[in-house]
Amino acid sequence: MRAFENRFFRLEPVRPGLWLLVEKTVRSLVRANVWVIEGEDAVLVVDGGWGLVDWPLDEIFADLDRPLWSLTTHAHCDHIAQAFQFTGRRFGHELSDAVMRAPDQENTNAQPWTPYLQILAEGFEDLGFVPEDYGTAFRPAPLTDVLAQGDTIDLGGRRLEVHETPGHSWHSLTLFEAEQGWLFPGDVMIATYIVDILPDSDKTEVLRTHQRLLELPFQWSFGGHGAPLDRRKAEGIIERYAERKAEEGLRA
Ligand SMILES: [Zn+2]
Repeated sequence: MRAFENRFFRLEPVRPGLWLLVEKTVRSLVRANVWVIEGEDAVLVVDGGWGLVDWPLDEIFADLDRPLWSLTTHAHCDHIAQAFQFTGRRFGHELSDAVMRAPDQENTNAQPWTPYLQILAEGFEDLGFVPEDYGTAFRPAPLTDVLAQGDTIDLGGRRLEVHETPGHSWHSLTLFEAEQGWLFPGDVMIATYIVDILPDSDKTEVLRTHQRLLELPFQWSFGGHGAPLDRRKAEGIIERYAERKAEEGLRA
């Protein structure tokens, strides 16, 4: 693999064998991370972004000599838009599959939320993006591989454990790569605001999930939004979230 950049996208190295695909069209505060994990036998793209512009996969992953697989940490609008492009294996939670088969404005939470988020980055006004229409053009991306707690994904020389981590949504998955100590928790544990007020959110489940994540010996967390977190920062985020929920009378 190699780095890539054009007007809309950037593929940048993060760690040996780990890349980040950046959708430059989306304001950084609400941009969703697309982590690309390299194995010897396959490359796994974690999540499918907002998709304001279709990803030119052939250019971004030019000369890739391994199959390109995709995984959905959870089927919300900012993480699924480009999943349809991955014609190899598509991984995700069983409850995500229902959404991925027929993604729309409602079941992906695209509406009524998008108009409040100012998602378009400066300099892309010519795209004619209409926040109120966002979510009408999603294309189906049924899963080929339904995952559950205890499953593993073998990329060749790199094994990812699958953990069911509900809270942000009922179908949220976390990947853990034990050898490097890498965690990919989707949106259930991120440095920016942990969203727990969606129709498919559950605050007590977030608290329980956080306790289970702490049991994993991760060193770095690569979440669905924001910069990577070292373990100490992640622990601080979990602690502060628990304090805020305790004020609401909620405990794990
Ligand atoms: Zn998100």
